[in-house]
Amino acid sequence: MFSEQCYDWGSKRSTIRELFEYGKQRAAIVGPENVYDFSLGNPTVPAPDEVTQAIREILATETSVQIHGYTSAQGDVNVRSAIAEYLNQTYGTHFHADNFYMTCGAAASLCIVFHALVETPEDEIIAIAPYFPEYKVFVEGSGARFVMCEPDMENFQIDIEALGEKINAHTRAVIINSPNNPSGVVYTEETIKELAALLSKKEEAFGHPVYLVTDEPYREIVYDGIQVPFVTKYYRDTLVCYSYSKSLSLPGERIGYILVPDEATDSRRLYLTVCGAGRKLGYVCAPSLMQQVVARCQGKVGDINAYKVNRDILYEGLRALGYECVHPDGAFYMFVKAPGGDSEAFSEKAKEFDLLLVAADGFGCPGYVRVSYCVDKDMIERSMTAFAKLADAYR
Ligand code: PLP
Repeated sequence: MFSEQCYDWGSKRSTIRELFEYGKQRAAIVGPENVYDFSLGNPTVPAPDEVTQAIREILATETSVQIHGYTSAQGDVNVRSAIAEYLNQTYGTHFHADNFYMTCGAAASLCIVFHALVETPEDEIIAIAPYFPEYKVFVEGSGARFVMCEPDMENFQIDIEALGEKINAHTRAVIINSPNNPSGVVYTEETIKELAALLSKKEEAFGHPVYLVTDEPYREIVYDGIQVPFVTKYYRDTLVCYSYSKSLSLPGERIGYILVPDEATDSRRLYLTVCGAGRKLGYVCAPSLMQQVVARCQGKVGDINAYKVNRDILYEGLRALGYECVHPDGAFYMFVKAPGGDSEAFSEKAKEFDLLLVAADGFGCPGYVRVSYCVDKDMIERSMTAFAKLADAYR
């Protein structure tokens, strides 16, 4: 009677949400200060002051229609120009307003791109594990097959050989996400070059484009001067899905963009197909006020140092307790190896100490848990006693 697929997605909460809800229940029993909730990726650093200033300025100077009215479906042209100008200055690129389509955040960007690329139920889209679990919903929702490429368990870059084996005549796109949720790893320039070489070879072999969809909500959240390669410079058939949810701490405002470079195969047609996919999905236009806000806040970010402080306390603390952790160079997640190898059992055990850690099975990477450290520093410090007890339980 209804869509089985949508029922499934609506009735089964994600592991992350499940754990978050459990945390709220526990907090009511033992007190919120005694629950160490590392489940969600909700930024805790406030939006930078420039966001508030921009909102004030816009409210004071623009008319109600300019603030609250519909914009062009692809977004206000001045906003798109401001983004193009910023990227060109920062990365030495040559974008213009018509390379950009404004969206309601990365989730919308990804859904629109997949709908634009997918033609038949045989089409496949590949995600590289560990990956953001919603990719599966977005890909299957677009009508394509979701294909997972196994993780590179040594350093969490990309297993290029394994990926090569997954690409076939049906492959429409490969999704990457760096800085990565959940591992915190940033793909190196060498990885991106190898990936570009592989995809170019496959395009030649199959005689059609294999697009690289790069999901970049964490692009600016990196530590210790680490550089995130700007992927369009390495591979022409790259589509960027960007979001301001994390860099400007605006996840509830729903604002981001899709970038379709001129160099991409059939670029103009693809751009119009993206516009059509946005229309089909009923997006109409991205939030008008937020478009204007981000145009005025190009290059601004929240206080990333606060996340770095958290990362250092957590990484050093857990290592001292004997945990094996992947060193995060970006985003605000840390990947911790489950002692004993069973991540779901480890996550369950952690609950006994009111530690909420997400088993990474749903990220395509069993054997690890994700610790989300966009939380109060104080909670991380207090949680160390619980982590110590949890480690003792495995000795
Ligand atoms: N992609 C990744 C890797 C994410 O971690 C998230 C959110 O946590 C999203 C996409 C969705 O972001 P948005 O809030 O911009 O839709």
